Amino acid sequence: MIDVDGNLNRVRTRIREACIAAGRSEESVQLLAVSKTKPTPLVEAALQQGQVHFGENYLQDALTKIESINHPDVEWHFIGAIQSNKTRQIAEHFDWVHTVGSSKVARRLNDQRPENKPPIKVFLQVNIDQDEAKSGFLDTEIEAAIAEVKALPRLDLQGLMTLPRQRQTTLEQRQPFAALRNLQLTHCKDQNELSMGMSGDLEAAILEGATWVRIGTDIFGARSQS
Ligand SMILES: *Cc1c(COP(=O)(O)O)cnc(C)c1O
Repeated sequence: MIDVDGNLNRVRTRIREACIAAGRSEESVQLLAVSKTKPTPLVEAALQQGQVHFGENYLQDALTKIESINHPDVEWHFIGAIQSNKTRQIAEHFDWVHTVGSSKVARRLNDQRPENKPPIKVFLQVNIDQDEAKSGFLDTEIEAAIAEVKALPRLDLQGLMTLPRQRQTTLEQRQPFAALRNLQLTHCKDQNELSMGMSGDLEAAILEGATWVRIGTDIFGARSQS
């Protein structure tokens, strides 16, 4: 059995220490616990420890957990790749989406967000490494994308998100995060959330201004698939 309590405490300590090192307040960074592929009891164990934000990548896997947990304080974040035919269920069941990477997906989420719910909170995903295999807007496209999303009334733009390729040293890890922060400062001053940093690079992300870190492995253990 995975020690979710101990793991969560260790991750919270790392976040606190990284905030101190960065000269930032601890409250300026929020923890998104990434529970993809993990069973409901592990999510419940984290919830018992006061964790209320959970990130999921796979729609069917997520819907099962959303339905069985059904707790008023829990907020669900979709952080996976989005196919157009999945936007309706995402708009209906999630509170946040970190991976809006095309105008088409943005418009569909806007059109499909149920009227009895508040606008869905979104991040625009930036393909910071300009990697052909990855989704997201290129930095040259982000200004137009921000303007477009701000005009969609059922989307509530929070800021920018990125998932860089893995890098080894903290110095290397900081580069794509610094690039994302610069894009936000240039184009997105009023929406200043930055979703960046995972188990292996949360310290680098916090040094560069992350306001949300997305942590899976170091809370719930390794995944057989990811
Ligand atoms: C899986 C995933 C994470 C968590 O990664 P870990 O290395 O397990 O902490 C964060 N963000 C996204 C977009 C992911 O797909």
